[in-house]
Amino acid sequence: MSLVSSGLIRQKSYINGKWIGDDSHSLVTITNPANSEEITQVYQLGKNETQTAIEQASKALSPWKKLTASERASVLMQWYELIVKNTDELAELITLEQGKPLAESKGEITYAASFIRWYSEEAKRVYGEVITPHQSDKRLMVVKQPVGVTAAITPWNFPAAMITRKAAAALAAGCTMIVKPAPDTPLTALAMAELADRAGIPAGVFNVICGDAKQIGETLCDNPIVRKLSFTGSTPVGRLLMAQSAKTLKKLSLELGGNAPFIVFNDADIDAAVAGAILCKFRNAGQTCVCANRLYIQADVYDEFAQKLKLAVEKLNVGHGNVEGIDVGPLINSVAIDKVEKHIADALSFGGELLTGGTRQHGEQFEQGNFFEPTIIKNANNKMLIAHEETFGPVAPLFKFDTVEDVIKQANETEFGLAAYFFARDISTVWQVSEALEYGMVGVNTGIISTEVAPFGGVKSSGLGREGGHQGLSEYLETKYICMSI
Ligand code: NAP
Repeated sequence: MSLVSSGLIRQKSYINGKWIGDDSHSLVTITNPANSEEITQVYQLGKNETQTAIEQASKALSPWKKLTASERASVLMQWYELIVKNTDELAELITLEQGKPLAESKGEITYAASFIRWYSEEAKRVYGEVITPHQSDKRLMVVKQPVGVTAAITPWNFPAAMITRKAAAALAAGCTMIVKPAPDTPLTALAMAELADRAGIPAGVFNVICGDAKQIGETLCDNPIVRKLSFTGSTPVGRLLMAQSAKTLKKLSLELGGNAPFIVFNDADIDAAVAGAILCKFRNAGQTCVCANRLYIQADVYDEFAQKLKLAVEKLNVGHGNVEGIDVGPLINSVAIDKVEKHIADALSFGGELLTGGTRQHGEQFEQGNFFEPTIIKNANNKMLIAHEETFGPVAPLFKFDTVEDVIKQANETEFGLAAYFFARDISTVWQVSEALEYGMVGVNTGIISTEVAPFGGVKSSGLGREGGHQGLSEYLETKYICMSI
């Protein structure tokens, strides 16, 4: 059974339980970032089809929200089971269109599926309130109701999880959803739609539309039927969508860019910090919004950390994600490589020193792909672009610091506030630094923090709202106050 056929089969979008797209639509070619080979082509839908999707999602809303939470949960659990059952095929699809190593793709499917199970459980625990009345002839209640028709726009770095993190919460709450996936990775999204269909999610409840981002985005934002938009992607696009949504005053969840500090204090377990940095910096070839962008190492352990990190980085195997034993796959496209090269050249021009890596990966098997050597830059400083911008690639710049106060100041000196990490043993440092970091998420003595049971999201220019945990469900619920005179 194939979720998305390989070869030149043209792929359609999934709207109201039907596969939509024909030769009246233009086509976009999807390529494998490991070898630039064409995988397939996808029909590009636009304004009219988005309008149809909104109308159908609106029709599907009433029967879906009237189901009990348990009934919705049963359907969601079918979806969960099918995703888990098809882990291998879905993972191959992610590796094919996104490039990450197969083991990471399997991990992403497990993570993606976990949101569906979590929210199918959480849906049954949505509670209102009875308030002590302010007058003796009044009774006051608060009930929670689904927001309504919702939309999601997702990025390519986690083609499955960025969808389920939104859709599972929306559907569990009783909302319907239209998803526009990233153009580099639509196949995973379409496969998820196929499984949603097989799971018995009713037509119109979950829709995936591929096509022109601007047209689809504007149509979703302009239409007052869409009551909420959840976006994961870059901060500039998040700002644009927020402005576009002002006309219809939509609820917004914005999961935007990061610039994560990763701090190692003198008393840290250096081996654990190195292991954390490898996971946090080089997973998904450094293309995660929560990945370490700036590594701050306290002066006494700077050289030891740098040396140990170098040894660990030089052990990383770079290659095609579908080959056994590969740790780092290709970057998503040549624009991503250009940004990495720009950040390295800029860092070297401001006194940075290459400890390892620094160039595109050489060798015949890398020629057609977007491969870059895992790189470490010593002597990083605040003049460098890398101190201020998300690199989104496998480059670890090492900054040296002396005191807790200095490093907190530097870590917070950014418009972003998604994730931060630090390694320390002293309990007062642990508390002090956890509280002082202006970030939505803080990892202490760990480089991996994401889980379906906890709220994921940022502050400042990293966005609004949370996904995961019970907080993620409340993003799809309205609070209604009922005042009864008796
Ligand atoms: P992006 O360029 O902002 O694109 C994200 C999505 O938005 C894509 O589907 C894109 O489609 C769409 N888009 C772009 N312009 C649009 C418009 N005018 N109207 C409607 N949709 C539009 O970001 P990216 O490069 O794909 O993803 C990387 C960024 O996402 C990084 O900054 C990363 O930190 C962030 N990210 C954040 C989180 C988080 O949870 N905070 C998670 C993952 C990634 P097109 O490509 O067709 O334009």
